[in-house]
Amino acid sequence: MDSIKNSHPAFSKSDTSKVNMSNEEWKKYLPEEVYNIARNKGTERAFTGKYYEHKEVGTYYCAACGNPLFSSNGKFESSCGWPSFFEPISKGSILYAPDNNYGMNRTEVMCGRCKAHLGHVFEDGPPPTGLRYCINSVILDFDKAKQASDKYKDGKKTN
Ligand code: FE
Repeated sequence: MDSIKNSHPAFSKSDTSKVNMSNEEWKKYLPEEVYNIARNKGTERAFTGKYYEHKEVGTYYCAACGNPLFSSNGKFESSCGWPSFFEPISKGSILYAPDNNYGMNRTEVMCGRCKAHLGHVFEDGPPPTGLRYCINSVILDFDKAKQASDKYKDGKKTN
């Protein structure tokens, strides 16, 4: 997964400006498994994702553009087979769209910055929100809290 980090000019964990790239461009930058989820709205096989049972403290970013999406504080243990969160890291980090494919009435969730498909949100989550954001591991990129603060300090030294 390291190969995609910073591999396109718009990848950033701090720039909040929207990313508008064609699927042809995305295809050049994203590994096939990431492209299939992000741009073709695919789904990874249940119970196979690297963050399904992940419990470390830190932040989950969009693997396609770097946008912060979820905090480990918003993650909970769900039996559904995918990483599950009860809230996004901030309101604007996520976009929502109705998804009536496959004979179901679901709500799709997308990255608020680059519109990558992330997964779906359901109303069977725990308090305080009652929501379950069911997200593909493949489109997430995790940074441990300590790593994130070290990077911030390093950045300050060099700037
Ligand atoms: Fe994104």
